Amino acid sequence: MKEHNKAIKKVVVAGGGTAGWMTASALSKVLGKLVEVVLVESDEIPTVGVGEATIPTLHIFHQLLGINEQEFMAATNATFKLGISFENWRDVNKDYMHSFGFLGQSCWAAGFQHFWLKGMKKGFSSDIGDYVAEHLGARKGKYAALASQDLNHAYHLDAGLYAKFLRNIAEKYGTKRIEGKISQVNLNDKSGYIDSITLASGEIVEGDLFIDCTGFKGLLIEDALHTGFEDWSHILPCDSAIAVQTKTVSKPIPYTRSIARDAGWQWRIPLQSRTGNGLVFCSKYMTDEEAKQTLLENVEGELLNEPRVIKYKTGTRRKHWNKNCVAIGLSSGFIEPLESTGIHLFQKAIVRLMLMFPSQGIKQADVDEFNTQTRAEVDNIKDFIILHYHLTDRTDTPFWRYCKNMDVPDTLKHRMSLFKESGQVFKKAEELFGEASWVQVMLGQGLMPNQYHPIVDLMEDEELVTFLNNIKSGVKNKVDNWPDHNDFTQHYCKSSIV
Ligand code: FAD
Repeated sequence: MKEHNKAIKKVVVAGGGTAGWMTASALSKVLGKLVEVVLVESDEIPTVGVGEATIPTLHIFHQLLGINEQEFMAATNATFKLGISFENWRDVNKDYMHSFGFLGQSCWAAGFQHFWLKGMKKGFSSDIGDYVAEHLGARKGKYAALASQDLNHAYHLDAGLYAKFLRNIAEKYGTKRIEGKISQVNLNDKSGYIDSITLASGEIVEGDLFIDCTGFKGLLIEDALHTGFEDWSHILPCDSAIAVQTKTVSKPIPYTRSIARDAGWQWRIPLQSRTGNGLVFCSKYMTDEEAKQTLLENVEGELLNEPRVIKYKTGTRRKHWNKNCVAIGLSSGFIEPLESTGIHLFQKAIVRLMLMFPSQGIKQADVDEFNTQTRAEVDNIKDFIILHYHLTDRTDTPFWRYCKNMDVPDTLKHRMSLFKESGQVFKKAEELFGEASWVQVMLGQGLMPNQYHPIVDLMEDEELVTFLNNIKSGVKNKVDNWPDHNDFTQHYCKSSIV
């Protein structure tokens, strides 16, 4: 019989998609001298093959791995991403951008939105995006990664190439890859911990700590450990996606397009040589065939593969760490592809695990802390995603009527009424989306505050005009000096597969 409070000497990562290789590369780079890292994956079982838009926090993970940006972008056919254009979300033909930049200039008492709001009332302000360099750059198709400027960018990348890129790093730092299909998970009779996994070949892979990266299946965390799943389909009703890749026919733009459709939304993710397209939809309101037709009517360029339907359930695993198994990736749950938070959550889980790494044996306090922190993080992101669906003027289809009228979490109701009543947004500690994100999306979805902070009235009108105009012209001058995004990408990180 195995002891389970013993030191962790061997980690088994089950699954080799984005989550599996992110986990293996980080664990072996950072802890490789202390623990043996083994990754099991099956070439017979494809990865989900989507997940190609990221957010700026990916830099932190890449710094940890010592990744060179130019090499990484060339190897993954990547382009820069400065934000997301939300089209038809507030209403048909009404668009806005959620960019990664900070809004204008704030003072200690009031965020920039208060100054901008008074300017709007008086006719001095223009589109909020005119005060954010990343927003204006996205709209103009311009960008350059300049270390001297404090800018925020993320990437559009090829998920398959990214997993390969990370695999090289993981293997360089000692991860051992085992090819094989997991056919059984073997639990300890006494403790219920995982002792080993059996492969279809009969090979048994033992370990002390198991990381479930098997995707939606959750072979270890759910099939074997029955951890349980909290279903969010009543507040995040989309449960299907159909994805297809097309050849790039025009210059890749530095932002993701998210275009609301009758029963969901379509993504367009421009890589250097191809575009990732998909339609996220709710099967109660749209069939797979209708989704396919909608998607194919709205893509540009030659199809590079057959459209593929992916079925899923929104929600979260009740525990992300259970016994000696940690779920990272789709096995831990799924919020939504909107706002591209999947990869971010994987990296947060990986870093959290390394911070609490149970070298001396698994302690319940660590497990509980890991689960509490993960849950808070997921709940905050969930509210932000629901906001996009719920805060809409759309009533033109049954899907949008459902979203507009659904009962949303009290935490989100509070955020919306605080902004409506006083223009205020407060970021909670450790929360992913900051004030600039909430403000851009709430304004974009049509929620205009009733008042601004009184400190703004301490400025004379003339002063306010000068303040707003200076920020706007500063942003314009900055962006005017940036090169065309595509020219810069071709010069900086031309894809090795183009
Ligand atoms: P998978 O890619 O499914 O990998 C699972 C791995 O487990 C594979 O290697 C498979 O071979 C292995 N496996 C499974 N069963 C077995 C077995 N029996 N034996 C051995 N191996 C096995 N996230 C973002 O950050 N940005 C996005 O733009 C984004 N878009 C998304 C769009 C959609 C429609 C969906 C569904 C998700 C999206 N995500 C996105 C979320 C997530 O980042 C990606 O889906 C990501 O690719 C998931 O990776 P994974 O490693 O968890 O799962």
